[in-house]
Amino acid sequence: MSINLSKLTVRSVRDGIAAKEFSAREVAQVSLDHIAATEDALHAFNQVTPELALEAADAIDAKVAAGEDLPPLAGVPTAFKDNMNLVGTRTTCSSKILSNYESVYDCTAVRRMLDAGAIPVGKCNMDEFAFGSSTENSATGPSHNPWDLDCVPGGSSGGSAVAVSAAQAVLSLGSDTGGSIRQPGALTGTVALKPTYGRVSRYGCVAFGSSLDQIGPFARTVEDAAFALSAMSGKDPMDATSMNEPVPDYVAAVTNARANGMKGLRVGIVRDMLDMDGLHTRIKGMTEEVVGTFARLGATVGEVNLPTSQHALAAYYIIGPAEASSNLARFDAVRYGVRAPEAEDVMDLYMRSRAEGFGPESIRRIMLGTYALSAGYYDAYYGQAQRARTLIIREFAEAFADYDILVTPTSPEPAFKIGEKAADPLTMYLNDIFTIPVNLAGNCAISVPMGKAKGLPVGVQLIANHFAEETLLGAAAMLEREIRFDSTPPFVR
Ligand code: GLN
Repeated sequence: MSINLSKLTVRSVRDGIAAKEFSAREVAQVSLDHIAATEDALHAFNQVTPELALEAADAIDAKVAAGEDLPPLAGVPTAFKDNMNLVGTRTTCSSKILSNYESVYDCTAVRRMLDAGAIPVGKCNMDEFAFGSSTENSATGPSHNPWDLDCVPGGSSGGSAVAVSAAQAVLSLGSDTGGSIRQPGALTGTVALKPTYGRVSRYGCVAFGSSLDQIGPFARTVEDAAFALSAMSGKDPMDATSMNEPVPDYVAAVTNARANGMKGLRVGIVRDMLDMDGLHTRIKGMTEEVVGTFARLGATVGEVNLPTSQHALAAYYIIGPAEASSNLARFDAVRYGVRAPEAEDVMDLYMRSRAEGFGPESIRRIMLGTYALSAGYYDAYYGQAQRARTLIIREFAEAFADYDILVTPTSPEPAFKIGEKAADPLTMYLNDIFTIPVNLAGNCAISVPMGKAKGLPVGVQLIANHFAEETLLGAAAMLEREIRFDSTPPFVR
């Protein structure tokens, strides 16, 4: 039986293996072969892990042979962002400074995916330390968008987005501090979920902004994202910020939404975000159509404004770099990091190793963060940004008193050309104007493909209240069924 990678879903992989239509090893091998055939063009991976993949696949096949029940993600080829530790792989964060760092323990989210039967095919390219929106800030070179190889796939989890979009994997994990799952999801036509802060353990994921970071999945269907979230979620004693909230069956939430429809769901379009300068007109129009679709499906729709969220980008570029500068202090070539040769003393070692090991954007973030936290400026910058954040949190809480789902575009424009914005950090930062407020407020959000602009995929962002992932996934599944986006890029056909 031939395996059509771009049509595989979590369910079809597990059911096909259980019914012995194909083995887990065959699926893994097809995925590895496809990666080998496409990596020169895409560069989605920093490291491919055939040994780990085949070993995990054989363990699934042994279960089949023994007549055992299969776990939910059995045999599903899965890729992980290269900031997540997995024993047997390097965890480089696409940085020179960690280029030889071998994982010494497993990231909890990764471990939970593997315990649920997922097959690890490799570690994905990213912007260095997750700083960026294009994957161009990678020390290993940019990833390419399968919809147009001259374009970026977004970032910072660009490699993870490409792997799923180009059918190199069925699922992948990314991390999202200001949009790094949702924005590349939008630019590659994939479903991309940022869970509520605290929903998924961050243990073993190299920290960028500890009050903002959250791990989440990329998938080609909403149901597959739900499978991944169910596998990953829940309290982890190793991460004090992971919450002890019950983990509902997110796959059932998708099934139930399809059966019950949208009656009673309150959907609000964020009007002032839609009226922002720089938003591509097709994207604006399509976002309005999405709200029309929800209305047709029986939802109650209305409009909401989030005026304080206009300050989110400014607050984020204080809080994010402040936390990053402190998190990155450990890469000093003594505790972690490649050592510059021939240092004269320990200070010289720190300075030379860090200057040589970090790329320009990482250095920019460390400088911004250190400055914002320095004595005399602390209150003017960091304190002020935290106050803005509190107001943004309140603004979202008020909006969710009236609505279950808020709707915005995911990104103001479709994928741009490699090199187009690389020289202008500010234009690059603007890519996350719609996603960053959600990280500051800690809510969950998903990007669902809603169509194309300039021939390239674009996404709509649905936002829900803290720990309302069931509502979020249900609404996303309904929308997906109406939009019927063909997620297979021409490159793969
Ligand atoms: N693009 C944003 C930044 O560069 C968000 C990155 C992220 O979510 N990791 O900070």
